[in-house]
Amino acid sequence: MNFQKPLSGRITSRFGPRKHPVSGKVGSFHNGIDISAPTGTDIVAPDSGRISEVWTHEKGGKCMAMIGRTGIRFGFAHLDQQLKKVGDIVNMGDVIAKCGNTGVSTGSHLHFTVKQNGNWVNPETYFKF
Ligand SMILES: [Zn+2]
Repeated sequence: MNFQKPLSGRITSRFGPRKHPVSGKVGSFHNGIDISAPTGTDIVAPDSGRISEVWTHEKGGKCMAMIGRTGIRFGFAHLDQQLKKVGDIVNMGDVIAKCGNTGVSTGSHLHFTVKQNGNWVNPETYFKF
């Protein structure tokens, strides 16, 4: 399956166990990757599919998720703007959000997650940044 990168940028935190950048707590699990990019950078749909969730979270800030063609769920957090609504159909490459610094965050970046069959998967399995 071919996916499109949600945005271009540098990975500042990888998937897996880590020391939390804000709380300093050791042993927390990073369920995605962080990609550094300026606030307002376009975030595009990595696959064609449907917007499944749009929400705001104390830590994650403005968040969105979509379900792609194979049922993989892609999640996006710390957004500056959420440009789609739940149920919207999107094509791969459509702009769905803007990168930001909302929630508990140390700078503008995208927290990007991939969930497959109910499990968090390393996004770098599918994407090269
Ligand atoms: Zn993160």
